[in-house]
Amino acid sequence: MGNSSTKLEKTFEGHIPDGERYYGLENFGNTCYANSVLQALYFCKPFRERLIAHHASLAKDHEENLLTVLGELFSEISSQKKRTGVLAPRRFIQRLKRDNELFRSFMHQDAHEFFMFTLNECCEILEREARAAREKEEGGAGAPASPSPSGSPPITTWIHDVFQGHLTNQTKCLWCENVTSREECFLDLSLDVEQNSSLASCLRAFSDDELLDARDKFQCDACGGLQEAHKRMLVKTAPRVLALHLKRFKYVEALGRHSKLMHRVAFPRELKLDDRVLAPDAPVAEHDATYRLFAVVVHLGSGPNHGHYVCLVRSHGQWLTYDDDVVDLADEDDLARLYGNASERAAGNEHGYILFYQRDEDEEAASSGGVGAGVGGGWGETT
Ligand SMILES: [Zn+2]
Repeated sequence: MGNSSTKLEKTFEGHIPDGERYYGLENFGNTCYANSVLQALYFCKPFRERLIAHHASLAKDHEENLLTVLGELFSEISSQKKRTGVLAPRRFIQRLKRDNELFRSFMHQDAHEFFMFTLNECCEILEREARAAREKEEGGAGAPASPSPSGSPPITTWIHDVFQGHLTNQTKCLWCENVTSREECFLDLSLDVEQNSSLASCLRAFSDDELLDARDKFQCDACGGLQEAHKRMLVKTAPRVLALHLKRFKYVEALGRHSKLMHRVAFPRELKLDDRVLAPDAPVAEHDATYRLFAVVVHLGSGPNHGHYVCLVRSHGQWLTYDDDVVDLADEDDLARLYGNASERAAGNEHGYILFYQRDEDEEAASSGGVGAGVGGGWGETT
């Protein structure tokens, strides 16, 4: 381990950028699902900065929760004297196991489930903190014992600022053609994968019309009947950091278990959301936004219940591989290896599983403001 960090230092030839730290994380028995996602989050600059700032603002005698131990870990990494090395995320893993029994066993776990649990849990902690602060401001001692959060405006935390986007969920009744729209928030998007496809086509499939029929009919408020309908999900506002989960673990009824889809899904370094994915009334800035890939959580192995996770991250233009406690330089060309297998017989068991893209902020600033052209009422034109 010590060797690998000196090797890394040598490879960088002292060019590790100022203020940057490359630290591997010790594995506590199948905790690579956590280590890989933690590295992706660490190299998500807006998340890292806000988390470290939040941790610095805590009182000395603060209560421990998942957010505080995560903040402690990131602060510890970023304040190391040496630029490379290995840390043991012991307190974080202990807390994780205490908070969620799913992660208590020593079995292989799903990195995406861990990612979602961690984000949601940390959001809830921040919401509780914000609510408590709001109550303190508003009422103090006289406030009711069990204040209801309903009625007060929703709380948007800094985690929402980084990861949250909005979807428009549209349902069109095939009997009366009325369109019902509902807005939903998301912290990441889970995409179905097809063989020999691309990320762009997976995103388009996500937004494609879905027929609601048979047992899945739609209760239309306009005509009052249970009708066949078309449903589609469009991105109304795109987040600052777009996390895309490729649904490689699929329940196969014939097998009675989850199995891994090795499909080849090419993903670009630079991503734009196309017009079939964006809602017609999405702001112009969403159409112009460019996203850059900065981390890929990779699953190695043939099935969902065993295998290994590593993470590739981009830092200051250089790609690195994080494999628990080992950090190594990677080449941008290595990414193509993670697309998947073009045929069932193809060798190779490393697959991109969660992709992290960050929005190009400069471009956003250049084209911000203004709202997109007309709201498309009927959507016949897109088919
Ligand atoms: Zn109807």
